[in-house]
Amino acid sequence: AKQTGRSAIHFFTQELHNEIQRTRYLKTAMQQALRDHSFEVFLQPIVRCSDSRCVKAEALARWRLPEEGFISPAEFIPIAEDNQFIHELGHQVFTKVTQMLNQLTKSVDPDFQISINKSGAQFVQGSLPTHRLWPMAMKNLRLHNQNLVIEITESVLLDTAEEVNNRINHFQKAGFQFAIDDFGTGYSSFAYLARFPASFLKIDRQFIQQIHSDQQMQVLCEAMIAMAHKMDMEVVAEGVETNEQFKLLNSLGCDYCQGFYFSKPLAFHEFEDWLEKSAN
Ligand code: C2E
Ligand code: CA
Ligand code: CA
Ligand code: CA
Repeated sequence: AKQTGRSAIHFFTQELHNEIQRTRYLKTAMQQALRDHSFEVFLQPIVRCSDSRCVKAEALARWRLPEEGFISPAEFIPIAEDNQFIHELGHQVFTKVTQMLNQLTKSVDPDFQISINKSGAQFVQGSLPTHRLWPMAMKNLRLHNQNLVIEITESVLLDTAEEVNNRINHFQKAGFQFAIDDFGTGYSSFAYLARFPASFLKIDRQFIQQIHSDQQMQVLCEAMIAMAHKMDMEVVAEGVETNEQFKLLNSLGCDYCQGFYFSKPLAFHEFEDWLEKSAN
Protein backbone atom coordinates (compact mmCIF):
# COMPACT_ATOMS: atom_id res chain seq x y z
CA ALA A 1 0.00 0.00 0.00
CA LYS A 2 1.13 3.53 -0.74
CA GLN A 3 2.18 5.42 2.36
CA THR A 4 1.05 9.00 2.68
CA GLY A 5 3.54 11.64 3.77
CA ARG A 6 1.78 12.06 7.05
CA SER A 7 1.99 8.41 8.07
CA ALA A 8 5.66 8.26 6.99
CA ILE A 9 6.37 11.13 9.35
CA HIS A 10 4.36 9.45 12.06
CA PHE A 11 6.37 6.26 11.53
CA PHE A 12 9.62 8.21 11.70
CA THR A 13 8.78 10.05 14.92
CA GLN A 14 7.61 6.78 16.45
CA GLU A 15 10.95 5.17 15.57
CA LEU A 16 12.84 8.11 16.98
CA HIS A 17 10.73 8.01 20.12
CA ASN A 18 11.46 4.29 20.59
CA GLU A 19 15.16 4.91 20.12
CA ILE A 20 15.22 7.69 22.70
CA GLN A 21 13.32 5.46 25.13
CA ARG A 22 15.75 2.63 24.52
CA THR A 23 18.79 4.83 25.09
CA ARG A 24 17.27 6.22 28.28
CA TYR A 25 16.53 2.70 29.53
CA LEU A 26 20.03 1.46 28.72
CA LYS A 27 21.61 4.45 30.41
CA THR A 28 19.81 3.74 33.68
CA ALA A 29 20.46 0.01 33.46
CA MET A 30 24.14 0.75 32.78
CA GLN A 31 24.53 2.74 35.99
CA GLN A 32 23.19 -0.24 37.90
CA ALA A 33 25.36 -2.71 36.00
CA LEU A 34 28.46 -0.66 36.81
CA ARG A 35 27.52 -0.57 40.49
CA ASP A 36 26.99 -4.34 40.42
CA HIS A 37 30.14 -5.00 38.34
CA SER A 38 27.96 -7.14 36.10
CA PHE A 39 29.66 -6.34 32.81
CA GLU A 40 31.47 -9.41 31.58
CA VAL A 41 34.65 -9.79 29.59
CA PHE A 42 34.93 -12.44 26.86
CA LEU A 43 38.16 -13.49 25.19
CA GLN A 44 38.62 -14.26 21.51
CA PRO A 45 41.70 -16.33 20.61
CA ILE A 46 44.39 -14.81 18.38
CA VAL A 47 46.36 -17.53 16.65
CA ARG A 48 49.98 -17.38 15.43
CA CYS A 49 50.08 -18.33 11.74
CA SER A 50 53.40 -20.16 11.82
CA ASP A 51 52.32 -22.86 14.31
CA SER A 52 48.56 -22.27 14.82
CA ARG A 53 49.14 -21.68 18.53
CA CYS A 54 47.00 -19.24 20.51
CA VAL A 55 49.43 -16.82 22.15
CA LYS A 56 47.14 -13.81 22.47
CA ALA A 57 43.49 -12.94 22.95
CA GLU A 58 41.29 -9.89 22.54
CA ALA A 59 39.10 -8.82 25.48
CA LEU A 60 35.56 -7.87 24.42
CA ALA A 61 32.99 -6.39 26.80
CA ARG A 62 29.68 -8.23 27.18
CA TRP A 63 26.46 -7.09 28.78
CA ARG A 64 23.66 -9.48 29.62
CA LEU A 65 20.24 -7.90 30.09
CA PRO A 66 17.76 -9.94 32.11
CA GLU A 67 14.98 -9.90 29.48
CA GLU A 68 16.98 -10.08 26.26
CA GLY A 69 20.30 -11.76 26.92
CA PHE A 70 23.55 -10.33 25.59
CA ILE A 71 23.36 -7.04 23.77
CA SER A 72 26.10 -5.90 21.40
CA PRO A 73 28.93 -3.60 22.48
CA ALA A 74 28.24 -1.80 19.20
CA GLU A 75 25.01 -0.68 20.91
CA PHE A 76 26.17 -0.01 24.47
CA ILE A 77 29.71 1.36 24.01
CA PRO A 78 28.46 4.53 22.22
CA ILE A 79 25.96 5.12 25.05
CA ALA A 80 28.71 4.63 27.62
CA GLU A 81 30.83 7.17 25.71
CA ASP A 82 28.02 9.75 25.61
CA ASN A 83 27.48 9.47 29.35
CA GLN A 84 31.03 9.36 30.71
CA PHE A 85 30.37 5.77 31.84
CA ILE A 86 33.04 4.55 29.45
CA HIS A 87 35.77 5.39 31.99
CA GLU A 88 34.37 3.21 34.76
CA LEU A 89 33.41 0.52 32.26
CA GLY A 90 36.92 0.54 30.77
CA HIS A 91 38.45 0.24 34.19
CA GLN A 92 36.23 -2.70 35.13
CA VAL A 93 37.20 -4.42 31.88
CA PHE A 94 40.87 -3.80 32.70
CA THR A 95 40.48 -5.24 36.21
CA LYS A 96 38.90 -8.42 34.86
CA VAL A 97 41.63 -8.69 32.23
CA THR A 98 44.37 -8.49 34.88
CA GLN A 99 42.76 -11.43 36.72
CA MET A 100 42.73 -13.42 33.48
CA LEU A 101 46.33 -12.49 32.70
CA ASN A 102 47.32 -13.55 36.17
CA GLN A 103 46.10 -17.07 35.36
CA LEU A 104 47.13 -17.33 31.73
CA THR A 105 50.70 -16.14 32.26
CA LYS A 106 51.07 -18.94 34.81
CA SER A 107 49.15 -21.73 33.11
CA VAL A 108 49.81 -21.11 29.40
CA ASP A 109 52.73 -18.83 28.63
CA PRO A 110 54.52 -16.09 30.61
CA ASP A 111 54.40 -13.97 27.44
CA PHE A 112 50.65 -14.39 26.88
CA GLN A 113 49.09 -11.10 25.75
CA ILE A 114 45.55 -9.79 26.11
CA SER A 115 44.47 -6.75 24.17
CA ILE A 116 41.92 -4.23 25.41
CA ASN A 117 39.95 -1.82 23.22
CA LYS A 118 40.23 1.83 24.15
CA SER A 119 38.30 4.55 22.40
CA GLY A 120 39.51 8.12 21.95
CA ALA A 121 37.26 9.36 24.75
CA GLN A 122 39.27 7.22 27.17
CA PHE A 123 42.45 9.23 26.63
CA VAL A 124 41.14 12.77 26.99
CA GLN A 125 41.75 15.17 29.82
CA GLY A 126 39.34 14.68 32.71
CA SER A 127 38.94 10.97 32.07
CA LEU A 128 40.31 8.41 34.53
CA PRO A 129 44.12 8.72 34.66
CA THR A 130 44.51 5.11 33.54
CA HIS A 131 48.03 5.90 32.30
CA ARG A 132 48.92 6.06 36.02
CA LEU A 133 46.41 3.57 37.46
CA TRP A 134 47.11 0.70 35.07
CA PRO A 135 50.88 0.49 35.57
CA MET A 136 50.38 0.51 39.34
CA ALA A 137 47.76 -2.24 39.19
CA MET A 138 49.96 -4.35 36.92
CA LYS A 139 52.88 -3.95 39.30
CA ASN A 140 50.82 -4.88 42.35
CA LEU A 141 49.81 -8.10 40.60
CA ARG A 142 53.40 -8.74 39.48
CA LEU A 143 52.29 -8.65 35.85
CA HIS A 144 54.49 -7.27 33.10
CA ASN A 145 53.13 -4.30 31.17
CA GLN A 146 54.22 -6.15 28.01
CA ASN A 147 51.41 -8.63 28.63
CA LEU A 148 48.84 -5.95 27.87
CA VAL A 149 48.11 -4.55 24.42
CA ILE A 150 45.95 -1.46 23.92
CA GLU A 151 43.88 -1.44 20.74
CA ILE A 152 43.14 1.99 19.31
CA THR A 153 41.71 3.06 15.98
CA GLU A 154 43.34 5.43 13.52
CA SER A 155 41.06 8.25 14.67
CA VAL A 156 42.91 8.29 18.02
CA LEU A 157 46.21 8.77 16.19
CA LEU A 158 44.73 11.65 14.25
CA ASP A 159 43.70 13.33 17.50
CA THR A 160 46.12 16.19 17.99
CA ALA A 161 45.09 16.98 21.57
CA GLU A 162 48.19 17.17 23.69
CA GLU A 163 46.65 15.20 26.55
CA VAL A 164 45.85 12.27 24.26
CA ASN A 165 49.44 12.18 23.00
CA ASN A 166 50.86 12.52 26.50
CA ARG A 167 48.86 9.61 27.80
CA ILE A 168 49.72 7.39 24.88
CA ASN A 169 53.41 8.21 25.36
CA HIS A 170 53.11 7.46 29.04
CA PHE A 171 51.65 4.02 28.30
CA GLN A 172 54.36 3.33 25.74
CA LYS A 173 57.22 4.34 28.00
CA ALA A 174 55.80 1.99 30.64
CA GLY A 175 56.07 -0.88 28.15
CA PHE A 176 52.44 -1.36 27.14
CA GLN A 177 52.10 -2.28 23.48
CA PHE A 178 49.69 -0.77 20.99
CA ALA A 179 47.69 -2.22 18.13
CA ILE A 180 46.05 -0.18 15.37
CA ASP A 181 42.53 -1.61 15.13
CA ASP A 182 40.23 -1.80 12.07
CA PHE A 183 43.06 -0.71 9.79
CA GLY A 184 41.96 0.40 6.35
CA THR A 185 38.48 1.56 7.32
CA GLY A 186 39.22 5.06 8.53
CA TYR A 187 41.22 7.88 7.07
CA SER A 188 44.39 5.87 6.84
CA SER A 189 47.14 8.35 7.35
CA PHE A 190 50.47 6.78 6.59
CA ALA A 191 52.31 9.78 7.99
CA TYR A 192 50.77 9.28 11.43
CA LEU A 193 51.32 5.56 11.20
CA ALA A 194 55.02 6.02 10.52
CA ARG A 195 55.38 8.33 13.53
CA PHE A 196 53.47 6.10 15.90
CA PRO A 197 55.37 3.04 17.07
CA ALA A 198 52.56 0.49 17.28
CA SER A 199 53.49 -3.17 17.70
CA PHE A 200 50.54 -4.56 15.74
CA LEU A 201 48.46 -3.64 12.75
CA LYS A 202 45.02 -5.25 12.66
CA ILE A 203 43.63 -5.50 9.14
CA ASP A 204 39.88 -4.94 9.21
CA ARG A 205 37.65 -7.87 8.41
CA GLN A 206 36.09 -6.20 5.36
CA PHE A 207 39.36 -6.88 3.51
CA ILE A 208 39.67 -10.44 4.78
CA GLN A 209 36.11 -11.36 3.85
CA GLN A 210 36.65 -10.45 0.21
CA ILE A 211 40.18 -11.77 -0.05
CA HIS A 212 39.07 -14.64 -2.30
CA SER A 213 36.25 -12.98 -4.24
CA ASP A 214 38.11 -9.79 -5.05
CA GLN A 215 41.64 -9.86 -6.47
CA GLN A 216 42.15 -6.22 -5.43
CA MET A 217 41.58 -7.13 -1.78
CA GLN A 218 44.35 -9.69 -1.90
CA VAL A 219 46.69 -7.10 -3.42
CA LEU A 220 45.76 -4.61 -0.69
CA CYS A 221 46.30 -7.16 2.09
CA GLU A 222 49.66 -8.08 0.66
CA ALA A 223 50.65 -4.40 0.51
CA MET A 224 49.45 -3.70 4.07
CA ILE A 225 51.42 -6.69 5.38
CA ALA A 226 54.59 -5.59 3.57
CA MET A 227 54.22 -2.02 4.78
CA ALA A 228 53.61 -3.08 8.39
CA HIS A 229 56.67 -5.32 8.35
CA LYS A 230 58.82 -2.49 6.97
CA MET A 231 57.64 -0.39 9.91
CA ASP A 232 58.49 -3.18 12.37
CA MET A 233 54.88 -4.02 13.10
CA GLU A 234 53.33 -7.46 13.18
CA VAL A 235 50.03 -8.06 11.41
CA VAL A 236 46.82 -9.50 12.82
CA ALA A 237 44.09 -10.37 10.31
CA GLU A 238 40.60 -9.86 11.76
CA GLY A 239 37.43 -11.74 10.90
CA VAL A 240 39.06 -14.89 9.53
CA GLU A 241 36.16 -17.29 8.99
CA THR A 242 37.50 -20.03 6.73
CA ASN A 243 40.48 -22.31 6.42
CA GLU A 244 41.05 -20.95 2.89
CA GLN A 245 41.39 -17.42 4.25
CA PHE A 246 43.78 -18.63 6.96
CA LYS A 247 45.95 -20.49 4.44
CA LEU A 248 46.06 -17.57 2.02
CA LEU A 249 46.92 -15.06 4.76
CA ASN A 250 49.65 -17.37 6.00
CA SER A 251 51.11 -17.52 2.49
CA LEU A 252 50.98 -13.70 2.26
CA GLY A 253 53.18 -13.45 5.38
CA CYS A 254 50.49 -12.48 7.89
CA ASP A 255 51.67 -13.06 11.48
CA TYR A 256 48.43 -13.69 13.41
CA CYS A 257 44.81 -14.51 12.63
CA GLN A 258 41.64 -13.94 14.64
CA GLY A 259 38.08 -14.88 13.76
CA PHE A 260 35.19 -17.30 13.92
CA TYR A 261 37.21 -19.93 12.03
CA PHE A 262 39.20 -20.44 15.24
CA SER A 263 36.60 -19.37 17.79
CA LYS A 264 34.03 -16.75 18.64
CA PRO A 265 34.69 -14.69 21.80
CA LEU A 266 34.33 -16.95 24.86
CA ALA A 267 33.66 -16.59 28.57
CA PHE A 268 36.88 -17.15 30.50
CA HIS A 269 36.17 -20.74 31.59
CA GLU A 270 35.17 -21.61 28.00
CA PHE A 271 38.32 -19.97 26.73
CA GLU A 272 40.42 -22.12 29.07
CA ASP A 273 38.63 -25.26 27.82
CA TRP A 274 39.17 -24.15 24.22
CA LEU A 275 42.90 -23.62 24.88
CA GLU A 276 43.22 -27.07 26.36
CA LYS A 277 41.43 -28.71 23.43
CA SER A 278 43.34 -26.77 20.78
CA ALA A 279 46.69 -27.61 22.38
CA ASN A 280 46.17 -31.34 21.69
P1 C2E B 1 36.40 -4.69 17.37
O1 C2E B 1 37.41 -4.18 18.34
O2 C2E B 1 36.72 -4.51 15.93
O3 C2E B 1 36.18 -6.21 17.76
C1 C2E B 1 36.01 -7.25 16.84
C2 C2E B 1 34.54 -7.56 16.65
O4 C2E B 1 34.41 -8.50 15.57
C3 C2E B 1 33.90 -8.24 17.86
O5 C2E B 1 32.55 -7.81 17.93
C4 C2E B 1 33.98 -9.73 17.49
O6 C2E B 1 33.00 -10.53 18.14
C5 C2E B 1 33.74 -9.66 16.00
N1 C2E B 1 34.33 -10.79 15.29
C6 C2E B 1 35.41 -11.51 15.64
N2 C2E B 1 35.69 -12.46 14.70
C7 C2E B 1 34.75 -12.33 13.74
C8 C2E B 1 34.49 -13.04 12.51
O7 C2E B 1 35.19 -13.99 12.11
N3 C2E B 1 33.43 -12.63 11.76
C9 C2E B 1 32.63 -11.58 12.16
N4 C2E B 1 31.60 -11.25 11.38
N5 C2E B 1 32.85 -10.89 13.32
C10 C2E B 1 33.90 -11.27 14.10
P2 C2E B 1 31.90 -7.33 19.31
O8 C2E B 1 32.40 -8.16 20.45
O9 C2E B 1 30.42 -7.24 19.07
O10 C2E B 1 32.50 -5.87 19.51
C11 C2E B 1 32.14 -4.78 18.69
C12 C2E B 1 33.00 -3.58 18.96
O11 C2E B 1 32.72 -3.03 20.24
C13 C2E B 1 34.50 -3.90 18.97
O12 C2E B 1 34.97 -3.97 17.65
C14 C2E B 1 35.02 -2.70 19.75
O13 C2E B 1 35.21 -1.59 18.89
C15 C2E B 1 33.89 -2.40 20.72
N6 C2E B 1 34.24 -2.92 22.07
C16 C2E B 1 34.08 -4.18 22.57
N7 C2E B 1 34.54 -4.25 23.84
C17 C2E B 1 35.00 -3.02 24.15
C18 C2E B 1 35.62 -2.44 25.34
O14 C2E B 1 35.85 -3.09 26.38
N8 C2E B 1 35.97 -1.11 25.27
C19 C2E B 1 35.76 -0.35 24.15
N9 C2E B 1 36.15 0.94 24.16
N10 C2E B 1 35.19 -0.85 23.02
C20 C2E B 1 34.83 -2.17 23.03
CA1 CA C 1 39.51 -4.44 18.62
CA1 CA D 1 38.70 -4.60 14.88
CA1 CA E 1 35.69 -1.78 15.54
